[in-house]
Amino acid sequence: MTREGSTMMTQWSMQQRDPWDPWFNRSEKGKYELTSVEFTVTQLCNLRCEHCAVGEMLVTEEGVSISVEKLIQRLEEVETLTTLSITGGEPILNPKVVKETITPLLRYARSRGIYTQLNSNLTLPLNRYQGWIEDLDVLHISWNYRDAADFHRIAFEKYGRDVTPKAAAVLFDRMMDNARALSEQGVFVSAETLLSPFTAPYLTGMHQAIVEMGCARHEVHPLYPSDFARGMDLISLDTFRETITALLDKRDPSIWLLFGTLPFYPCSENPADRELWLRLHQEKNITVRHDPDGRNRLNVNVFNGEVIVTDFGDVPPLGNIQTDRLDTIFDRWLEHEASKRLHCFCPEARCTGPNLLVADAYYPDTDFQKRRAVITIDY
Ligand code: SF4
Repeated sequence: MTREGSTMMTQWSMQQRDPWDPWFNRSEKGKYELTSVEFTVTQLCNLRCEHCAVGEMLVTEEGVSISVEKLIQRLEEVETLTTLSITGGEPILNPKVVKETITPLLRYARSRGIYTQLNSNLTLPLNRYQGWIEDLDVLHISWNYRDAADFHRIAFEKYGRDVTPKAAAVLFDRMMDNARALSEQGVFVSAETLLSPFTAPYLTGMHQAIVEMGCARHEVHPLYPSDFARGMDLISLDTFRETITALLDKRDPSIWLLFGTLPFYPCSENPADRELWLRLHQEKNITVRHDPDGRNRLNVNVFNGEVIVTDFGDVPPLGNIQTDRLDTIFDRWLEHEASKRLHCFCPEARCTGPNLLVADAYYPDTDFQKRRAVITIDY
C-alpha cells in the first residue's frame, strides 16, 4: 500500500475509534486502564511559546536519558497499551534524541500495532523530518497564528533575548512549507489551536490556513491555564460557545475537526451548551475527545524516570520507571484522591467528565459527582 493509502486507512480507523479517547475503555470495560504513555524525550526547544504547557521546565543543556531499552521494557509490561506519544521541548531538535530514543520507540510501537503521536513545532529543516516519520501515525503541531508577526510575538516574547521579525518569519514560512510538504507525502499532520482571547476572533481564518496547508485534522482545545500560560486571560464560556458555533457554520467539512477537553457538558443547565454537545455528536467529520490525562495516560520524564499525570501538577510524581511498572503506577493513581475527583460518567450522553484545569478555571464551585446528563445521544 502507498504511504497515502496507508495514512487514509489510519485516519479512517482513528476517526471511527480515537485511540487516545478514554471513552472507549471506560464504556466497554467499566473502568479506566492505562492505554496511553507519553514520553517527554527532551527539555530543549528553539522556541518559547507563550502558551507552552512545559515552558518553565525548558533547559538549555540536556541531561542524560534513560536507555531506550529500559523505556521499551516498561512499555512491554503494559498489556493494555494502544497509544504512545512523544513530546518535549522540541523532540526533533537534537539528532541524538531522534536516533537513540525516538526512532527505536516508533519502530517498537509499529511492531506492536500501537498508534503514535509526536509533537513538533515543525520549524526545523524538512530533512530533519525524514528517516523516522514513516513509522509515525500523527504529527501534531500548534497553529495559533494569522501570520509571521503573530508567530514572532507568540513564540519569542518569552525567549529571553531579541529575535528579529525577519528571523521569526523564516521559521514561520518553514513551518508552513513543511506542513504542506509532509502532508503531500502522506504524513497525517494534526494542527491544534488553543482558544484564547487572541485566537478566538480569528479561529475560522486559522482553520482555513490549516486546510490550505493540507493538514488532515484541525484540533481545537481550550487554553490550559498552566505553566507559561498561567497568567493568560481565558475567554468566557459564552465567547467559547459562539466561537465554536461560528467555526461549525463556516468550517471546511472535508477536514476532520477534533474538539478536545471542551468546557461544555451534557449536564449543563444552559440549553445552548447541550445543543452544542448534540450538534458536535451529529455532524460528520467531527469528534469530541475526552481527556486522557487522569483517565488513561501517564507521562514519563526520560531523564529522571519520574511518572506524573499531566495537568495534576499538585500531585507529586507517582513513581519511577527505574523501580516500578507503569501499570502498577497507574493503579496507584486510580486510588489517589485527585484521580477520583472528576471521574463522573454519563454513558447516555457519551461523557466521561471534565479536564481538571478546565473544570478549575470555568467551574470552580461545581461538584460534577453530583451532576447527571440531561440529554441522550445516539452513538
Ligand atoms: S459525565 Fe460528568 S460532566 Fe459529563 S454529563 Fe455526566 S456529570 Fe456532567
